[in-house]
Amino acid sequence: RPLGVALVGLGKYSTGLLAPALQETKWCRLAGIVTGTPAKAVQWQRQYNIPTQNVYNYQTFDRIIDNPAIDVVYVVLPNALHAEYVVRAAQAGKHVICEKPMATTAADARRMIAAMQKAGKKLSIGYRLHFEPHHREMMRLGQQEVFGPVKHLVADNGFKFNNDTPWRVSKALGGGGPLLDMGIYCLQGCLYTKGQVPVSVTAKFTAKPDPVLFKEVEAGVNWQLQFADGAVADCRTTYAENMASRLRADATTGWAELAPAFGYGGIQGRTSQGVMNIHNVNQQAAQMDDFAACIINNKPTRVPGEMGLRDVQLLEAIYRAAETGQKVSTKDVALVLDKA
Ligand code: NAD
Repeated sequence: RPLGVALVGLGKYSTGLLAPALQETKWCRLAGIVTGTPAKAVQWQRQYNIPTQNVYNYQTFDRIIDNPAIDVVYVVLPNALHAEYVVRAAQAGKHVICEKPMATTAADARRMIAAMQKAGKKLSIGYRLHFEPHHREMMRLGQQEVFGPVKHLVADNGFKFNNDTPWRVSKALGGGGPLLDMGIYCLQGCLYTKGQVPVSVTAKFTAKPDPVLFKEVEAGVNWQLQFADGAVADCRTTYAENMASRLRADATTGWAELAPAFGYGGIQGRTSQGVMNIHNVNQQAAQMDDFAACIINNKPTRVPGEMGLRDVQLLEAIYRAAETGQKVSTKDVALVLDKA
């Protein structure tokens, strides 16, 4: 049978993207839900035909240990809550997908990895673009040096935040602002296109147009990643304006670019040789089916907890660079890469 997935947190991403994608997956299906809102439970049960014994709230969640219909717990909560629910899912003996960013501190990310290892279950991060064909093409072009070594990368991703989900500008629940939410795509894109982990970072916060809204977190940040071979990546993220999303790599004999780059669909790619003739796919269905296949075949995932930790370490370094104005070494960051 396909693996049973339980979504934890029925907010915008679960409702708009993950539950619909789970209607298209082959190796997994929407089997359960965890919600604090009884009215949502009733509506989801009706819409997705979910039996009452597979419905939990945050207090009853740990009883999922006794439910053989749930194989995978997918944590889709505000960032700072990921750690608690991944650890509880591990203790319940379930495989886990955890949304990005994995955690709000590297210490939490390590704790989550340890709990999953102790449970002997698989952990992956909700990095949907590793399963998106334009992004896989960027990995191939960059890592295999199809146009020679990549010298310069550019990545932009941000939007004008309207406070529809206030936790995103709360330090306690979000862990930070747009860097953790949107900037993480720039960071990821540069690492998997270059196929290296940077050795240092520099960064600068942008001005706060609304000091009340951005009381606790940054409104935006511009940063640069420096790689061991001298290549650099210039990245920007913001909650203060709608930014055209873009991922570009300039190599010695050519270039490749995705624009728009990071959305749920509509990704378009070009290289110095012409248009990338690649179709968009249902990214979330591809991501979840890949993880289900990893569980069924006992193979490692491309997007393990260690990659989530790597990115949290780099995000912490970017904050430190922006706060101090200094170049921050990232040489101690976990060396985890998705090979093209
Ligand atoms: P959201 O605010 O719409 O949903 C969060 C859910 O958590 C809500 O249903 C809310 O009721 C619930 N919740 C439980 N305890 C809560 C608490 N103490 N405070 C606030 N809410 C609480 O947010 P979202 O956009 O669905 O994002 C959820 C997670 O998914 C985040 O980690 C985000 O980064 C991630 N996400 C990933 C992608 C992606 O493309 N991979 C896209 C969107 C969101």
